[in-house]
Amino acid sequence: MPSTRPWTGDPVWLADVLRAEGLDVVEYPGWRDRGHGDFQDIRGVMVHHTGSDTATAASIAEGRPDLAGPLSQLHIARDGTVTVVALGVAWHAGVGMYPWVPANMGNWHLIGIECANTGTSPLAPHRQNWPDAQYFALVRCCAAINRRLAQTSARTIGHKEYAGYAQGKWDPGAIGMTLLRSDIAVRIGVIADPAPTPRPPVPVGEYTGILLYRGVQGPQVSELQRRLKYAYASYAGGLVVDGDYGPQTEAAVREFQRRTAGLVVDGVVGPATAAALQLKVIPAD
Ligand SMILES: [Zn+2]
Repeated sequence: MPSTRPWTGDPVWLADVLRAEGLDVVEYPGWRDRGHGDFQDIRGVMVHHTGSDTATAASIAEGRPDLAGPLSQLHIARDGTVTVVALGVAWHAGVGMYPWVPANMGNWHLIGIECANTGTSPLAPHRQNWPDAQYFALVRCCAAINRRLAQTSARTIGHKEYAGYAQGKWDPGAIGMTLLRSDIAVRIGVIADPAPTPRPPVPVGEYTGILLYRGVQGPQVSELQRRLKYAYASYAGGLVVDGDYGPQTEAAVREFQRRTAGLVVDGVVGPATAAALQLKVIPAD
């Protein structure tokens, strides 16, 4: 009888539940000591493709020159081998949002799975270039983790569902997330007492879709600059309203966040910062 209960902190049970699911599990050397700090409450799973059919577990563990590893907790090779790469937080989710994940905080709440796969293309049909061994290993990994946490398959999401809007992400490519979730649901079986869907500790409502950060351009950025420039002139009065979220805009946002209790100082305007600013929302056209 598998244990199902809520969990806060690092998933020390990761290798064990995967093995119990019948998976071919490799424990990458040092995985228990690898991570960018500790998890908060684990709210689900995020699925990725690496962008290459041959990306190794080592590349996920060690990272890249521009991004230090670990880049996810799990790696799934095309033959279905699952490598447990890290126990702690990994840089896989980045900036983004999903209803039950605090904005931009996916890395601290989601176990990341990187599948060695090109993803084919953004519009490729479900499972094109996904070998059965790899696809069903993915289904089992997600099911094992969701079940361990008393979560339904609704708690497995794709990177593209979280960051698509913000970052132009389309991974996992050639995976229909609804189809994947229904396969995971079958594998999970019945959960007697599923965990309730967590609420993110941020305002939602009209600000749900707001996500502005360095490099973003457009009328919503102009509105942000106008708001900062005129309402917070003591430190943002010199801002140029040009609709381009550059270093000056980011600095002003950071200063606003520093002066506002309860905000994370990250220079990114998500729902919480937008609400605190009482930012006027410009409808997308
Ligand atoms: Zn990704």
